[in-house]
Amino acid sequence: MDLKSNYPGNLSYAKSVLNELASTQNYQIKEDEENVKILLMLSGGIDSAALLVNLLSYTKCQVHVHHVQLADYNNAHRAELERVQKILDFCLRNIREFTYSFSFTEERYEGNYSCGLDAELWAFKAARICKSHRDFDLVALGLSDKRAALQCSDVFKTVVNCDGFMGSTIPQLILPRVAGDCDNVDIYESMPKELADICWSCRTPIKYEDSYVPCRTCSSCRKRSFTVRDLWFKSEYERHQDLLRLSWFSEKDKFLELVKQIKPDLTYLLIYGLENNFPNRRINLLLEEFAEQIQEEVKNDFERQDILNFMVLDSAWTQENFENRISFLVRAGAELDRVLAHDAHADKYYEEFVEYFKPRLDNELLTKAVLSMPPTDSNLTRVKLLIELGADKSQLSNIAEIYPELKEVLAA
Ligand SMILES: [Zn+2]
Repeated sequence: MDLKSNYPGNLSYAKSVLNELASTQNYQIKEDEENVKILLMLSGGIDSAALLVNLLSYTKCQVHVHHVQLADYNNAHRAELERVQKILDFCLRNIREFTYSFSFTEERYEGNYSCGLDAELWAFKAARICKSHRDFDLVALGLSDKRAALQCSDVFKTVVNCDGFMGSTIPQLILPRVAGDCDNVDIYESMPKELADICWSCRTPIKYEDSYVPCRTCSSCRKRSFTVRDLWFKSEYERHQDLLRLSWFSEKDKFLELVKQIKPDLTYLLIYGLENNFPNRRINLLLEEFAEQIQEEVKNDFERQDILNFMVLDSAWTQENFENRISFLVRAGAELDRVLAHDAHADKYYEEFVEYFKPRLDNELLTKAVLSMPPTDSNLTRVKLLIELGADKSQLSNIAEIYPELKEVLAA
């Protein structure tokens, strides 16, 4: 999937960053931008990396980056650290100078796996750093969630104010993503493609040789996959616009002739058709003619595979022709084991899932699904679904070690 042409040419996020900066009193009172000192909390994800790139590229402010290594059950902190070091290196080599530091925090609560928002901890840590250094004017957080941002803002203000700042400037929090109106695609397009690829999203990484790979089933992997799909739609639409406009309702032969002539990205065509409710007969025709080529396109491309997999999951919520849609996606190369390993099975469509998947599963696929299920990011519905479909309970026992409420389900 070639998305390179889109990067970076989108200045929406840069504008939000500059507006947010200019709106703060601490920025306004400085005569020279070079004297503004910003502490930026870098998690290793897309949002904080985009904030760093835009601050470095479009301002002259002094930037200090801090990364909190937050160790929990999932070991995402190891993968994140790997990526943070690469992001720092990329920005120092390609943009400009800044300073950085690291800290380590462990949150593994016995018998209680919910520790609150990671972002709250960043806000807390940032406030403590400000209190001990006393020369930061602003603290930058790349949060995308408005509610989380409000909570972080409260945490930050409380900690910063709890024993006063004794005459020095009280630092202010800036949250440009929340203050502006950028979407995920704007954020991706606000930085070079190579850098976006380095950023880490997965909450439950899998160790692979000396490094980590994304699980491709957790909610963060899912969010990233849909952003990639949106980027893809944005860049491919123009290329295929005539075909999309003309072909869907034209004669069968004319449609096929056009496809052969234009040589479009076939996976894109299929997914676009499904997303935009093109007639089933047209989707069928596309698959009858080109299923092999589409499978070939999908086979060696994780991004394409993930888009198909997550679309299977989404079908349960959004589509009336649930069964048709899934069968189209499976014919194109969706991987059912990954779909089953994901936790997004809507409880409401639980029965439909069982009904659809039961006749289509064999032991090998179920075992693969169980093994793809990240132990620390699993929920009851998902485990119950796998058991109902016939998964071997002994394979699920490592998950019950972490989630006591699963023990009853497994014992039943
Ligand atoms: Zn993941």
